[in-house]
Amino acid sequence: MKAPSAPASRRRVYGFGAGKADGRAAMREILGGKGANLAEMTRIGLPVPPGFTISTEVCAEFEASGGRMPKGLQAEVAKALAKVERIMGSRFGDPERPLLVSVRSGARVSMPGMMDTVLNLGLNDRTVEGLAARAQGRFAWDSYRRFVQMYGDVVLGVPMERFDDRLESLKERRHVSLDTQLTADDWRGLVREYLAIVEAQTGKPFPQEPNEQLWGAIAAVFRSWETPRAVTYRKLNGIPQAWGTAVNVQAMVFGNMGDDCATGVAFTRDPSTGAKVFYGEYLKNAQGEDVVAGIRTPQPLARESRSPDQAQLPTLEEEMPRAYRELARIRSTLEKHYRDMQDVEFTIQSGTLWMLQTRSGKRTARAAVKIAVDMAREGLISRDEAIGRVNPDSLEQLLHPTLDPDAPRQVIAKGLPASPGAACGTVVFSADAAEAKAKAGEKVVLVRIETSPEDIHGMHAAEGILTARGGMTSHAAVVARGMGKCCVVGCGSLQIAYDRGQFRVDDRVVRSGDEITIDGSTGEVILGRVPTVTPELGREFAELMRWADAVRRLEVRTNADTPNDAKVAREFGAQGIGLCRTEHMFFEEERILAVREMILAPDAVHRGRALDKLLPMQRGDFVGIFRAMEGLPVTIRLLDPPLHEFLPHEEEGIREVAKALGSDVAEVRARIEERSEFNPMLGHRGCRLGITFPEIYRMQVRAIAEAACQVAESGVKVRPEIMIPLVAHVGELERLRPLVEEEVSRVLALNRSVKVQIAIGTMIEVPRAALVADEIAKYADFFSFGTNDLTQMTYAMSRDDAGKFLPEYIEAGILTDDPFVSIDREGIGQLVCIGVERGRKTRRDLKVGICGEHGGDPKSVRFCDEAGLDYVSCSPFRVPVARLAAAQAAVAAPRAAGRRGAARAEAARKAGRRRRAGR
Ligand code: PEP
Ligand code: MG
Repeated sequence: MKAPSAPASRRRVYGFGAGKADGRAAMREILGGKGANLAEMTRIGLPVPPGFTISTEVCAEFEASGGRMPKGLQAEVAKALAKVERIMGSRFGDPERPLLVSVRSGARVSMPGMMDTVLNLGLNDRTVEGLAARAQGRFAWDSYRRFVQMYGDVVLGVPMERFDDRLESLKERRHVSLDTQLTADDWRGLVREYLAIVEAQTGKPFPQEPNEQLWGAIAAVFRSWETPRAVTYRKLNGIPQAWGTAVNVQAMVFGNMGDDCATGVAFTRDPSTGAKVFYGEYLKNAQGEDVVAGIRTPQPLARESRSPDQAQLPTLEEEMPRAYRELARIRSTLEKHYRDMQDVEFTIQSGTLWMLQTRSGKRTARAAVKIAVDMAREGLISRDEAIGRVNPDSLEQLLHPTLDPDAPRQVIAKGLPASPGAACGTVVFSADAAEAKAKAGEKVVLVRIETSPEDIHGMHAAEGILTARGGMTSHAAVVARGMGKCCVVGCGSLQIAYDRGQFRVDDRVVRSGDEITIDGSTGEVILGRVPTVTPELGREFAELMRWADAVRRLEVRTNADTPNDAKVAREFGAQGIGLCRTEHMFFEEERILAVREMILAPDAVHRGRALDKLLPMQRGDFVGIFRAMEGLPVTIRLLDPPLHEFLPHEEEGIREVAKALGSDVAEVRARIEERSEFNPMLGHRGCRLGITFPEIYRMQVRAIAEAACQVAESGVKVRPEIMIPLVAHVGELERLRPLVEEEVSRVLALNRSVKVQIAIGTMIEVPRAALVADEIAKYADFFSFGTNDLTQMTYAMSRDDAGKFLPEYIEAGILTDDPFVSIDREGIGQLVCIGVERGRKTRRDLKVGICGEHGGDPKSVRFCDEAGLDYVSCSPFRVPVARLAAAQAAVAAPRAAGRRGAARAEAARKAGRRRRAGR
């Protein structure tokens, strides 16, 4: 096959170095994140080792041609390499002054699963001598063995253990425990062994020619885009296959040439708390991978961010003050330039500082909130930008409980507090086990010596992650923080034995399946389960929420069925109840018998008796909820689920109902049989019950109206809204609205001293209802989209069942997304738009909301804003999520269009009021 060639004008290789760069930050699409930022840092005058980036487009060309490099690339690379050689004053392959390079992948977004790094490329049997002459022999041979090992592993596919085994046996022979105790001759001997391993494994000698090494590494980066792990990661995260990865080739600088050398990672603010302190770790006399590998304990960067358990460790500030001061200057330059918290990698070679990477730093939700608010206050970003900086979904983490500080606990070990929160679950030792057990509904804590990108699925599934090795910037720590998962790392006292499925701390043994608790804020590992308490939200959280509330258009309500849930939601900022499911009140133990009597009553008289028992209970519930939601709207839905859900199945339950009804058991059993349905989802439920058993709805309406009057009488303002579910035909509402009105009027007539207004509306949750919304609106003061049922009925699949085949559907491209997760214009959103448009055609002031799960999903909230809904309603803990998502939607909406839309809506509302007043 002929290799495709790009248009002659299209550049494939972008150089950077000595203050000049062909690329810049905005070019991340073709340079990848790493390459774009290396170019940007070079441009703004930061010390970046020279290099070049091969664009992501070449990756696509490489793939399309079945793994061949496009024509012309070689010449471009040679030119870029020559520039690097000029800047560095050394030459690739030169035995006297060899240029060594690193080769790294770099996609648009950081992506585990791909080839990461090859360091020291350019070393061979001859250049190693040149390097030895210029630095030290020990350093040169150590670098060469690292190179052979890395290249052998990631480019040639030689298993890492082959090399590790030799190193371990060498240390044994020399009776030493640390790499640093090995001599130049030791490393030289090991290199020979490594080269022999490669030859034995691959059937070819290790490539000695630097150019061959370079092209091998470039091809390996492109091929790594296709590894199953990378493909899976992209699928899980919705990253398009077509993006491709860039390749960054950069002159090596060395952090391992002696004690005036170091390498480290830093965050411009604390990624756990968001505090404005310079935070990071470094290792003296080490190369990049040593820091993340977690084999040596890294030292803290600065005194201001040194934790109590690091008190004994000297900081970079103290050990290398000049390099530290420069790094601190760069920290502030980067924050001003990027206007965000940065995560950087640096190396100090013989006292000189070099920057190897910068990117937006991953952070906990708590840190994200603090950093956004602080930066807006510092004037670095606007308030609108601050609102956009926090992932609404992540807020839920902040609201969830932490360990009760007063609860007794048996701490068995302590590691580093890598990602806050608390997690409790049974111990598992592998990612697969974590996934399998979590699928079966078990809460698990994943315990590993250390984690790698292969463990991602298990980390997702686990409640928390505990590792024996690694620092605050280890894989486990960084990934867990990004996921918002509780994580404790570097817990050195844990002796993990995977083969025996256990870990040991001193003489205590914890086995797979035992329960432990980990505290990501203190690093404690605790035996058993520890009770939790609700967290206090910081000042910055309140501030951000105030800013969000000031800009959002959508109202946010909650789905709550108890006074307590209502209270919690109100504290989280709910502006009313959008859905109170009355059936939840029916399931309580002391009520279920009365409910069963009502359903299984042989006639209206018996049913009436049962309903009389239920009435005061329901009324009591509503009184509590109205009080908790004083002054705010409360939408109460009349009974919705199929009756058979309440039926007794066990002998004892059946006998109990028979006794209460004075019927015989066989008769009751026959009636149970009668009530059971083939497809309950599509059966006798919702307003169909209201039509066939009007007494049930009458009782509920009466309970609502009486509760409202009772509460209003005590001086508390109530705003009840009665909602009729599952309407599919206007005739249903045509019959049920008068029934509801009649009951309400009857109660109000008896309570003339109080002023209570009760709105009557319906749910739009059957596709047909959306289509005939214009007719339905004649009998509804409001609509609430029940997108749970609407989704199930439109796709004709239930959420639970769909879980079994959705992944395949998504993989096959039949569905691009899980339809239960978000609503959008391509799917259910169309029905929502039709319903809104047709409903408001009949009734311009029609109030429209949503109360399906989507009401707490940020993407769906944004859709609801665009579709002109008045409110979203979600579970109490999602209320802050929805408030922020609604604010982001408002900020993102084109301002002019937003104002026009608002003006139109206002005009429509006024017109509606006029029209109805005249009716
Ligand atoms: C819905 O269908 O979206 C809804 C809110 O009702 P439920 O989940 O109770 O069926
Ligand atoms: Mg429903």
